[in-house]
Amino acid sequence: ARRNGGSQLIEFDNEMAETEKRWLDMEVDMRVAQNKQQFYLMYQPKVASQNGALRGVEALVRWQHPEKGFISPAEFIPIAEQSGLIIEIGEWILLQACRQTKQWHEQGIKDLVCAVNISPLQFLHIGFLDTVEKVLQQTGLDPHFLELEITEGVLMHEVSKSTEILEQLHNKGLKVSIDDFGTGYSSLSYLKTFPLDKLKIDKSFVDNITSDDADRSIIKTIIDLAKHLNLIVIAEGVEHQSQLAQLIEYGCDEIQGYYFSKPIMPDELNTFINQQKKS
Ligand code: C2E
Ligand code: CA
Ligand code: CA
Ligand code: CA
Repeated sequence: ARRNGGSQLIEFDNEMAETEKRWLDMEVDMRVAQNKQQFYLMYQPKVASQNGALRGVEALVRWQHPEKGFISPAEFIPIAEQSGLIIEIGEWILLQACRQTKQWHEQGIKDLVCAVNISPLQFLHIGFLDTVEKVLQQTGLDPHFLELEITEGVLMHEVSKSTEILEQLHNKGLKVSIDDFGTGYSSLSYLKTFPLDKLKIDKSFVDNITSDDADRSIIKTIIDLAKHLNLIVIAEGVEHQSQLAQLIEYGCDEIQGYYFSKPIMPDELNTFINQQKKS
């Protein structure tokens, strides 16, 4: 039994080394990826729940690796965070998204709001506000059309610092939304102290909205809460008509999900708009 346990341990060590090596490889590859322009952004439409009209988009980063093919952001963003590379990559994402949004405005897609995911590390980084300012200046985008999606964890752990950053963003005219709302362990009292604009109900609740009483109650409660706090509420991961119907009944303002559209390339947005008008 002992020998067995020992070899298991070695196996475990090897697995650890494998994982570590994969991470290191990926970190090296990510540095190259930035220079070689292997990253690009796709955009997922957000629509008004009542009539399906386009309200905005969420920018989602993509990595096309020359040998390994497509790598999911769920896989590489955590590594970018752990290595600190997220600061550089995140700035590039912000710049790219603002540039694209400005371009859409110039093409006549007025009032389009673009949401950009901001990792906690990036949000708390010393130069973050300056970066936002710089990017807005560089692109000429009106800050009212830029929305930042952040998760609630960062706000809970760094309350005073977060308050300061949020207030400054608010003063600049940006919008802030809480991503994956309801999944972090957090007190709700922060909702009244921070200047926020929107709550995004996590896909994990939406998935079971038609089958699970508990998830349905949670969603209803989040929507009611948002209304009372004067926040806009959006649901992500909506794939079926039945989910949409329930969300509309509860008064959810905006919808994002495959039911309306998967993430698309920038030049596909006009097609999306035209299709929505017809339906
Ligand atoms: P997230 O911010 O919660 O983004 C929503 C994810 O759900 C996206 O996956 C989107 O493509 C997917 N999704 C949207 N609607 C549906 C649906 O109806 N059904 C299903 N099955 N999926 C749907 P994606 O693009 O793979 O991104 C995964 C996560 O990676 C994001 O979760 C976010 O945490 C992170 N991420 C993506 N892009 C960025 C970025 O530019 N910066 C940062 N910091 N993180 C990013
Ligand atoms: Ca998001
Ligand atoms: Ca989300
Ligand atoms: Ca999510």
